Amino acid sequence: MNHAIRVHEHGGPEKLIWEEVPQPDPKPGEVLVRHKAVGLNYIDVYFRTGLYKAPSMPVTIGMEGAGLVEAVGDGVTDLKVGDRVAYAGALGAYAEARCAPADRLVKIPEGIEFTQAAAMMLQGMTAQFLVKRTYAVKRSDTILVHAAAGGVGSILVQWAKHLGATVIGVVSTQEKADLIKGLGADYALLTSENIPARVREITNGAMLPVVYDSVGKDTFTTSLDCLRPFGLMISYGNASGPVTTDLGVLAAKGSLYVTRPTLNTYTAKRDDLVATAKDLFEVVGSGAVKIAVNQTYPLKDAAEGHRALEARKTTGSTVFIP
Ligand code: NDP
Repeated sequence: MNHAIRVHEHGGPEKLIWEEVPQPDPKPGEVLVRHKAVGLNYIDVYFRTGLYKAPSMPVTIGMEGAGLVEAVGDGVTDLKVGDRVAYAGALGAYAEARCAPADRLVKIPEGIEFTQAAAMMLQGMTAQFLVKRTYAVKRSDTILVHAAAGGVGSILVQWAKHLGATVIGVVSTQEKADLIKGLGADYALLTSENIPARVREITNGAMLPVVYDSVGKDTFTTSLDCLRPFGLMISYGNASGPVTTDLGVLAAKGSLYVTRPTLNTYTAKRDDLVATAKDLFEVVGSGAVKIAVNQTYPLKDAAEGHRALEARKTTGSTVFIP
């Protein structure tokens, strides 16, 4: 017996339907994973609404999970039945059990629980490449993080602090401001403030070398206005909608750089995936970055999680339990 959430047509959270589905058999190179926990990510909303297109419909959405290997397909040599595994970036996670390519899985180290693993693979590996590779955060840097109390945001804040940077977080409520101060943010700005003016004040006019922006449409121009000449705008998400801007604005605001990175590219090679996950497990294992699972729901009630995420009511990570 296997159940999964399936989307038959794009739309609101009510389109997430809990159904009985066939139990899959692993093909060559795959393993069957029995989920103990499934992560909620903003990308799940994009696949539900149709902003991002699934290869076929109906689709079981979800990109991240953690569980036990229950069966192994031909040609899989480094995983066995009973191994504790986790993954990010393989569509089809909102299921009690699913088959996944073995080369997309990593073993969960001792001391990391399934819920924690499911909460951090996608958001944590994203934070890893953002602070280490898209831009290597240095001790002397002052950086700005939008949606700083969110899943990726709260990990980014802690990791950048761990690397010695001065961190300015932007959030929508005073409760979230208090939360990110608790995570180590040096400054907690509210979305209602004049963000570039506050950044000018904080940096004595120097402005920033880099901005981490996952909000997209609503914050793009504000983010550019926080950068110093030649600064880097990292636009890594679209919680408020996709960015559509004429590139000429980059010249006008100081020969700025923009990148739109994605975890898929940064972990496409197996070696990169393993190194990224290892770095994440180490920083979490050391206690320098804590993964806050602040919301859990039964998987069959995934719609509730989507409603809370889109209403900006969640903080940290959200996990579904099958
Ligand atoms: P979050 O937990 O950060 O939730 C989204 C947050 O965005 C909200 O809590 C809210 O914070 C803020 N927000 C601002 N405007 C809106 C809006 N109009 N609607 C909803 N939320 C809004 O989600 P995740 O951590 O899962 O993801 C964060 C972002 O990172 C997403 O855009 C996601 O697509 C992106 N991402 C990109 C990856 C990549 O590879 N490029 C990988 C993983 C995530 P507040 O109330 O404080 O403003």
